[in-house]
Amino acid sequence: MLSVAEAQALVIQHVRPLTPQTVPLSSAALGLVLAEDVASDIDMPPFDKSLMDGLAIRCADLPEGHGVLTIIEEVTAGTMPQMTVGAGQAIRIMTGAPIPRGADAVVIVERTRAMDGDRIQVDDRPPKPGQNILPRGKEMRKGETVLKAGAVLGPQDFGVLASVGRTSIMLHAAPEVALLSTGDEIVEPSQTPGPGQIRNGNGLMLLAQVTRAGGLPRFLGIAGDQVESLRPLIAEGLQSPILVLSGGVSAGKLDLVPGVLQELDVQPHFHKVHMKPGKPVYFGTRGSTMVFGLPGNPVSALVCFELFVRPAIRRLMDYEEPGPSMVQALLAQDFSYTSDRPTYHPAVLRDSEAGWRVQAVPWFGSPDLRGLISTNAFIVFPAGDHQHRAGQRFSVLRTE
Ligand code: AMP
Ligand code: MG
Repeated sequence: MLSVAEAQALVIQHVRPLTPQTVPLSSAALGLVLAEDVASDIDMPPFDKSLMDGLAIRCADLPEGHGVLTIIEEVTAGTMPQMTVGAGQAIRIMTGAPIPRGADAVVIVERTRAMDGDRIQVDDRPPKPGQNILPRGKEMRKGETVLKAGAVLGPQDFGVLASVGRTSIMLHAAPEVALLSTGDEIVEPSQTPGPGQIRNGNGLMLLAQVTRAGGLPRFLGIAGDQVESLRPLIAEGLQSPILVLSGGVSAGKLDLVPGVLQELDVQPHFHKVHMKPGKPVYFGTRGSTMVFGLPGNPVSALVCFELFVRPAIRRLMDYEEPGPSMVQALLAQDFSYTSDRPTYHPAVLRDSEAGWRVQAVPWFGSPDLRGLISTNAFIVFPAGDHQHRAGQRFSVLRTE
């Protein structure tokens, strides 16, 4: 049976990147990957600009930092100075305003005192040329590349893109992820389950996971455990770059999903991984479409999504590091554990001065989704019969 790492490598190997798209620049691109280099169309700042409110002066007039100057003009951000600063003169200047000709430094307003008429007293340390001035082009030059293809767009990048006048950008769009719950026993959350029935908890859970991973969920509803019910819905889901199914991949009599996928020309790459929960997980492809059959038990579905589907979504989005996010953490409390397979055990991961600390929570296995409330991680416990001790180091899967 494949290990988790081998199965993850197989998934990543089968990702076929989508063609980048040019889209209007909007916050919908947050977290998406840029597919072009972006150059500035202007010098930034476009002029020598004042970093402070104060006086634009000539350093030569204040060799000791003290003196009386005559104010000849006032310039605010958004206006251009008309005058040139000559010997013994100064221009009152506000933050963001262009530096007047003749001036080579700005003295902050707190070091000045208004006198009679246009005169002003300066009491400061000797000014240095360039003081409190941001020179033209210091941040970026016209034609200079400011963002490179491959950048994951964060808020600061939107500020830069807007500053260089971009209204549209080429990026790797969020992939659509089709979701299908299967099972004769599954009913809508709005229904009261009848005898033998359970509500479709996985549907909304997986929808939220797709959204958090950066994909666009397309919910196909619930299919019954009959080929006639599964076939049209699976065929529909195969139109998306990724199809995620829950249920119907185990060894039961009505676990029909792999057979229907086969019938629809999906090529299987693995079916079963050496892990707990989630052992029956299935992965196949048809053309560039990736198909994940997640076991129906909610925690199996959740863990398999984080380990296999999320990295596929991230790679499709052209993330260089598709995850999942693993950290090394020290166990906070003793914990005895017995398992025949490497086990993903729900846990609370916290940052501390001594590094990551992780605490296992009480949990009775793959049907126990409630046990995951307030958790944010899974500890990976090795197979075997172990008395794990506080302070021991473990690999931990982060889920936030
Ligand atoms: P299966 O993988 O289809 O054998 O399902 C395994 C277990 O998960 C069964 O107890 C199912 O009732 C449960 N299950 C399957 N699908 C869902 C779902 N959509 N939401 C919640 N539980 C489910
Ligand atoms: Mg089932």
